[in-house]
Amino acid sequence: MSLVERYDCFLLDLDGVLYRGDRPVEGASEAVARLRAAGRRIAFLTNNSSRTPDQVADALGRIGVPASPAEVVTSALATADLLSSRGVKSAFVIGEDGVRSALAEAGIDTLDGEPPRADAVVVGWDRGVDYAKLRTASILVQRGATLIATNADVSFPAPDGLRWPGAGAILLVVTATTGVEAEVVGKPGAALFEAARRRAGGGRPLVVGDRVDTDVAGAAALGWDSLLVLTGISRPADLDRSDVRPTYVARDLSGLFEEPEPGPLASD
Ligand SMILES: [Mg+2]
Repeated sequence: MSLVERYDCFLLDLDGVLYRGDRPVEGASEAVARLRAAGRRIAFLTNNSSRTPDQVADALGRIGVPASPAEVVTSALATADLLSSRGVKSAFVIGEDGVRSALAEAGIDTLDGEPPRADAVVVGWDRGVDYAKLRTASILVQRGATLIATNADVSFPAPDGLRWPGAGAILLVVTATTGVEAEVVGKPGAALFEAARRRAGGGRPLVVGDRVDTDVAGAAALGWDSLLVLTGISRPADLDRSDVRPTYVARDLSGLFEEPEPGPLASD
């Protein structure tokens, strides 16, 4: 029985699974179309907090994957949910549109410039980050603001096969400066996965991702099955170094439609 027949819903990571940068991963649009044709429910989940669900759905449409904003769960939405559940009123943000608008919609004041205090400092991926923002974030944390990261991915897969700095690399500047550890909202934490399964209508999920340390580890912690695809960050050799194992490994998303290989999931 192929993987598509074994699960009710498919929770698809984006970067390294459906696209790299603005380029589609080969076969991605066909794979999603086949999942939909088979009547399987889908949610798209991403640790990237820079875009709103509408922007993510647009980006997916541009690479040939029609998607509705309601199918998209981002670490920005999960961060805003968490902060508002704790009664946070103000945040200094290193981040882009996605996290700023999610916080604003949750009624949280996003502070600009050099505010003297903030309830929280939120760190996400920010292509406009500079020394002044890193300094202000570090000062506010030392004055008692709670340090929250939308996600801690140190890098992400660039179109040319190399790695670019992610939110986790920006976060490291603040944690190294202050000595304060951040609370991380995105994968491998449970919040994003659970929100994605709710979006997909529940049932037995298969998490599909390209990273052992986030996608696979997060699924394993919940007791959920995972498919690692080798179109992004993780390589077979990473499995040998890791304590967690994906349930399945495939070269790419075409593995969803095949009988999975039995046996040990080593790099051989
Ligand atoms: Mg990924």
